[in-house]
Amino acid sequence: MTEAAITEHRFDAALQALSGYDDVELLSKAMGEIFPDRISVVSAFGAESAVVLDMVARIDRKIPILFVDTGKHFKETLEYRDMLIDRLRLEDVRSIGPAQDKIAGDQTGLLHQTNTDACCEIRKVIPLEEALSEFDCWITGRKRFQGGSRSTLATAEADGPTRLKLNPLANWSPARIDAYFDNYGLPRHPLWFKGYASIGCGPCTGLPTEAGDSRSGRWSGLGKTECGIHRYGSQAA
Ligand code: SF4
Repeated sequence: MTEAAITEHRFDAALQALSGYDDVELLSKAMGEIFPDRISVVSAFGAESAVVLDMVARIDRKIPILFVDTGKHFKETLEYRDMLIDRLRLEDVRSIGPAQDKIAGDQTGLLHQTNTDACCEIRKVIPLEEALSEFDCWITGRKRFQGGSRSTLATAEADGPTRLKLNPLANWSPARIDAYFDNYGLPRHPLWFKGYASIGCGPCTGLPTEAGDSRSGRWSGLGKTECGIHRYGSQAA
């Protein structure tokens, strides 16, 4: 069997082992049994990020958490990140960002005004891809209710040929998210109190423009709905 075939077989087996699980059970199985030391969380420390962060912290506070620091975040997000690190006693939060040579093409820092795809590529996609190279699996906070390409999200999916991606909250509703914040007394992002339902980089985040569509304030009016870090996707089982 070739190395590629072995890898494919290994990830098929892991996907099968994780199917049928979600939220805490999915995380416990992946973090404790299948990918110990080879799994990370990717978090934007946004409006609902505290739920997944709290769940993983209850399992293992040492899990690596990757925060893509694009240099364009709201100061409130950076403050919220630091507060959650402290509150949840997260032990390995890694702020990763674009290398200097990569942002040479955005010397004014205004590339987002003319080419959001190129800006996301150098500030998010490339740094994250490099950081994920040491992991076999990563965890996101995406939900189906967020719509668009997320509406058919599976709880476990292939992320290209060599990695898996877990979406432990894929099946959750907004009410369940709110209940988790209340039940565990988790702090909210400061901008959530001002109506921001989905929070990314400052220049590309506004208040929701459509009722019931939490992500409608992201890249509003540009026809863009994702930054590009979720290139691969799967359909819900
Ligand atoms: S969200 Fe906006 S500012 Fe952030 S990386 Fe993408 S285009 Fe640039």
